[in-house]
Formats: sequence, structure tokens, C-alpha cells
Amino acid sequence: MTQSKQNTPSSSGSGTDSKDRDSDLERFLDEVSQRNPHEPEFLEAVREVIEVIYPEAVGRPDLQQDAILERLVEPDRVFSFRVCWEDDDGQLQVNRGYRVQFNNALGPYKGGLRFHPSVNLGILKFLAFEQVFKNALTGLPLGGGKGGSDFDPRGRSDREVMRFCQSFMIELSRHIGPDRDVPAGDIGVGEREIGYLYGQYKRLQDESRGILTGKGVGYGGSLLRMEATGYGVVLFAEAMLSRLEEDFAGKACAISGSGNVALFAAEKLLEKGAKVVTVSDSGGYLHIPEGLDTELLKKIKDLKFAQRGRLESLDGEDGCEFHADERPWEVACDLAIPCATQGELDLEAAEALLENGCMGVIEGANMPSTAAAIKRFREEKKLFAPAKAANAGGVAVSGLEMSQNSMRVYWKRERVEEELAEIMGSIHKQCVEAGDDGDWVDYVKGANLAAFKQVASAMLSLGPG
Ligand code: NDP
Repeated sequence: MTQSKQNTPSSSGSGTDSKDRDSDLERFLDEVSQRNPHEPEFLEAVREVIEVIYPEAVGRPDLQQDAILERLVEPDRVFSFRVCWEDDDGQLQVNRGYRVQFNNALGPYKGGLRFHPSVNLGILKFLAFEQVFKNALTGLPLGGGKGGSDFDPRGRSDREVMRFCQSFMIELSRHIGPDRDVPAGDIGVGEREIGYLYGQYKRLQDESRGILTGKGVGYGGSLLRMEATGYGVVLFAEAMLSRLEEDFAGKACAISGSGNVALFAAEKLLEKGAKVVTVSDSGGYLHIPEGLDTELLKKIKDLKFAQRGRLESLDGEDGCEFHADERPWEVACDLAIPCATQGELDLEAAEALLENGCMGVIEGANMPSTAAAIKRFREEKKLFAPAKAANAGGVAVSGLEMSQNSMRVYWKRERVEEELAEIMGSIHKQCVEAGDDGDWVDYVKGANLAAFKQVASAMLSLGPG
């Protein structure tokens, strides 16, 4: 974006008229829209952040002079590449791969790889943009990036997934490195995919370096990485409840998703005495009226992680009911914890949750709530934990995996667990300090402001480039 004076915050300081500021803000966002057409998720993520930080940026000539906001919404670099691989029938398949290196002011680019047919550049730009702020909140030296492919691992054999990953890494390996860019997993990229990707990197470069996180324990992975995002979500929510002198005991929690984030959030919730009443997958949701127990959780983990099966197959078991093509937000709950994908909790869902007396939403997935849904919860001054704060536990433990790899050591589970709890507590504290509006804490404002201050300060120190 060209540095255009009229689109940057007015520098007239305390005398700035708020109407002028609003129209400056809209002009700024319009320009971002024009430069990034057909990328609704990216534009929504930018709006959420910029709306919060714009008033802060008003009257800061240093931010204007270095075009901090303009640079914040423009990725440092984007790679797009062809990925050819052979399926089990000997047919050559062609997919598209991406890596978005968004901002490395705080450290090497860091963020997951997503393999899902819905992947496109706009979605990865939104995820990479969010990652910049999330990583800042962890307090670790990590920049933000994201990547992936429109490849769908579902229904593919292990060998097909392996050949895809190997081909994907041939190109990706040129752009990553322990001090440059360190990808991890995300939707469709779990330990199996990370193993194949890492194996290919080692073959190509003949080096054992920490260029990916989420590796298996035993070949460079950190204990607790797999559990970290879900556990972190619950630790963050626990800190929110504890501020209100409440806890999880007996609270009904509706979870969406049944992947890495969802099932480890469920595990931690059980440990805390909560009642998990739903999980879901892309086929629909499983209602568990009596609440999940450890036996059923084990069964679901086995179904989703080992057999790669569908929740539908559990209909009628242990009193569960499967609701095809529905989302879980119609079930009465105290807390809604969306852990599947973006845009899965819309205004209609928010209204249903509020009507059923829901205390708030804790975002496990990235941007699962639409802007309209977030607005409703904030208007009602309900608890609302934005993803960049609540789900930062995964990247935090990825950062700890990088440290262990650099030192060539493995830390004990207790140490990683302690560090994770400390980081989630610190993120909560930063959100409260920056988001305290007197009678309630606006966690959306708190997370965005606290993260922005860190990233902007580093960008100013490093000078423009
Ligand atoms: P997984 O692939 O392990 O699980 C994703 C789950 O969401 C599955 O149950 C999947 O169903 C469901 N799902 C995916 N897409 C859709 C869709 N379009 N509609 C309905 N359900 C869908 O992914 P993760 O658990 O790793 O990631 C979940 C979310 O958390 C994502 O937003 C991700 O970006 C975010 N996240 C993940 C982190 C991590 O450490 N893994 C870290 C921080 C954020 P099905 O089984 O049918 O495919």
C-alpha cells in the first residue's frame, strides 16, 4: 500500500475529532479491500485488529512516518507453487502449495501448514496475519506466517499422503530454516504429515535441524505439543472464570470439532470437572446429554486419530445422538468452545447461545466466530476469548520445541506443562491490562492492543524495509 497521508491516522492528537478518525479508518480499510479483493477472511481479520488499534495509532507521528499500519497489513513475502504427486492408481495429481511469510519483526516466521480443499491465498493470509499477533502475545521471539495446500488428505492412503508431502517439501525446503521460517501443523496436518515432511527435508538438505514443529517425540518433537493448543484454551478460560471467582465444576461446555484442538480441550475440561456436551466433525455434531467421560473420549480419539473415521458411527452409543449437517450451538451450554474452523459460529448461533443462557465463547479454532457474532457477545458484555489469545498454547509449545531443538535437549513433560501454564497466564494478564473497560474486560480489545504494541515497537526499532 502506498503511504498516503490521508489514509493514515490523523496526528492532531487529543483534538482529533472522532468522526474524522472514523472516516480515516474506513478509508484505510477501503484501501486494504481494494488491494486484496476476493479475500473476505483476510479483510475480516484486518478489520477486527485495525478497528481496535486505530485509536491508539492516532497522534503517533512515529507510527505514521514508518507506515506501521500499512506495513502490518501487507505480507513480507508470499510463495505459491505447483505440487505434483502420483496417486495409488499411477495418475499424476496437481495441487497448489503456499507459504505466506507475513511479519518477522519479533523472530523467524512461525505458523502452521493447512491441508484442506478450502485452502486459498486469502485464508492463509488471514491465518498468517492473526499469527503475527498471537505469537507476540506468547512473549517468545516468533514472527508470523502460515502455509498449506488445497490437497485433501481425507480418503487418501498413507502412501498418497506421503508422496504429496514429499513433493510439497521439495519446494518448501527452499524457503524455511530454524532462523528463517518454522512451519507446524494445522487442519489436515498432524504428526503423520509432519513426519513425512520432515523426513523429506532431511533427505534434501542432509541436516537435522528444527525446521518444523509438531514432530514426533523421539525425533525432535516436544512432549505436550500435541495437547498444547487444547490444554491452553482451557487454561485461558479457567483464568477468565477465576477472575469472576468461578470455575469449571459442573459447567456445560459445547465443543465443535473432534481434531487435535477439540479433543485435547475436552480432555482438559474433564480434568477440571466440566461437562462436555458436544463434539462435531464436518458431517455434523454428536450430542452427549450425560456429558463426555474418559471412556467415550478414548473411543472418539481412537475413531478420529487412529481410524480417521466419522462421528456419525457413534450415533446411539452411550446415549449419544448424532445430528447430521448441524452445528452444536443449538445445545444449551454455559460455554461454547468452537474448535473446528473459521466462520462456524455466526449471528444466528450467537443468538441461540445467548437465549440459552451461555456465559461466553472461548475460541479454540482460528476466527471461528463471525464479526456479527463477536459484536453480539461484546454488546452483551459476555466472556469472549479471541483465538489469538485463547489458542496460543500450541504455538507457545512450538516455540519451546524450537528452544529444545537448538539446545539439543528434551525437556520433561512437567517442565513444558509449567511453561505452558505460565505463558497462558501471562497472555491472560496482558489481555486484562489492555482490555479492562471498568465494568468488564474486553478481551478482543486487550489481545489486539497488547500484541500490536509489541509488534509495532519492534518494527519501529528495526526501521522500515
Ligand atoms: P484437525 O484437522 O485436527 O481437526 C479439525 C476438526 O474440525 C475436525 O473435526 C474436522 O472435521 C473439523 N472441520 C474442519 N473443517 C471443517 C468445516 N469446514 N466444517 C466443519 N468441521 C470442520 O485440526 P486442528 O484441531 O489442528 O485445528 C482446528 C482449528 O484450530 C483450526 O482453525 C486451526 O487453525 C486452529 N488451531 C490449531 C492449532 C494446532 O495446534 N493444531 C493451533 C492454533 C489454532 P473432519 O474430521 O470431518 O475433517
